[in-house]
Formats: sequence, C-alpha cells, structure tokens
Amino acid sequence: MRDFLVAGNWKMNGSAAASAELTDGILAGMPQSDAVHLLICPPYPYLGELAQKLAGTALSLGAQNVSQHESGAYTGEVSAGMLREIGCEYVIVGHSERRAMMGESSEIVAAKFMAVLSEGLKPILCVGESLEEREAEQTAAVIDAQLNAVLDAAGAESFETAVIAYEPVWAIGTGRTASPEQAQDVHSHIRAALASRSEKMASAIQILYGGSVKGDNAVGLFTMPDIDGGLIGGASLKAADFLAIAAAAASLV
Ligand code: PEP
Repeated sequence: MRDFLVAGNWKMNGSAAASAELTDGILAGMPQSDAVHLLICPPYPYLGELAQKLAGTALSLGAQNVSQHESGAYTGEVSAGMLREIGCEYVIVGHSERRAMMGESSEIVAAKFMAVLSEGLKPILCVGESLEEREAEQTAAVIDAQLNAVLDAAGAESFETAVIAYEPVWAIGTGRTASPEQAQDVHSHIRAALASRSEKMASAIQILYGGSVKGDNAVGLFTMPDIDGGLIGGASLKAADFLAIAAAAASLV
C-alpha cells in the first residue's frame, strides 16, 4: 500500500507572522502515523525561515513554482537550486492557476519538472481539465496531453520521486468537489497511462486529488484505491482544517 501525502498549497496568502503561526499549529497536531506525510508549500519569502522551523520535524517543505532555467538573466525567477539550498524537498509544477494565468504550456511545465529533478527535489505535477473540457467529454484527452508532455520529455523513469496531483479546474476554490467516483475514474486513468510506459512507476507513484478537499469529504476521497492523499488549497490555511484532512488520511491506515 502507498503512503498518504497531504500537501498544503498556501498560494499568495499570509504574512511572515501568520505563516509561522500556521506552521506551529500544524506541527502541534501532526498525525502519529508513519504512513501519512504532511507537506506545506508557503510563498517564496517565507521558505527560508520556515525551513529552519521544520528542521528535525516530520513536516516537509515545498515551493509553489520554480523557473525552468538554471541561472541567469531571468528577473523575478527562482531556480530549483535555490529552492534546494534553502531546504525545500518538493516543488509544485503545472498548477492550473499558473497554466491559465501565467500562460504556462505543458512544454514549460515539462521543463520545470526536469529542473526540479535535476536538483534532487520532488516535483508535484498538477494535471486537470476545465469544466468546458469535462462537459465536452475531453477529460481523458486533456489529462493525457498534459501527462504525455512530461513523459515524452523526461521519460517514465523520471517519475520515481515525482507525485501527480489531479486537480479538476472546476473544483479548485469553488467548493464544488469531484465525487470520490469521478476522482477515482481519473486517478485510475492516470495510473494506467503511466503503466503503459512503466508498471513499476505506476504502482508506486502517489496520485493526489485536489479541489475543495475538506475535513468532511476527505475520507470518502481517500478511501478510493488510486487516491493517495490531497493537494489542499483553501483548507490548508487554517491548522485545524488542514489537520482534519490529515486525520482523515490517518484514520484509513
Ligand atoms: C489548489 O489550488 O491546489 C486547490 C486544490 O485549492 P482548493 O483546495 O481551495 O480547491
């Protein structure tokens, strides 16, 4: 059985003081299970200080984005090497907000995925369809295109330390969650797509669900055989809400 990963994507929220308080709150209520891992992805400016706070704890640190470039004249960008140096373990790539608002193509996402791996960090690759795409029955085709862009560029073996997050765009921040069955359908499709390249990678990889996960719907989602945890937005901004989701995972191991 795969371990659960419950990851918080704080997006552009908080302050230095609020980030420290939220982190302390999470640390105070961590589930006592080796099979449930917790991760926070705060905004860039708080990573350094939080890395120090997390040293020696079981709470992992990740970034929400990274440059695909190693170094150079890329004003405002942050490299994977910088994130490694500061103490990050994970980096989210291809979040739908970045794909939609910052124009990140699947090719750019693939380059970011490889940049993360090149520094020994673990990418969390987000994939997901819009409402229009779901209604036009294009979900599988959209997911395949997003996944294949990375598989073709990086190879299936590169998924050894990676995590995939299925995040239907219509469920992000909307309060509208995919039903456990809807999510499971796509998760099993993703695992099968990966299995067609590497059975080994497919059976080991953690596939998270993201999209309005809360304490009261997490058990239903996490019970599904191909859902290995969650990427949590809104509910990761309060320690009690985030811990309720972690507790839901812990209740299933
Ligand atoms: C997200 O943005 O990754 C997300 C899943 O957000 P929310 O939980 O708020 O829907």
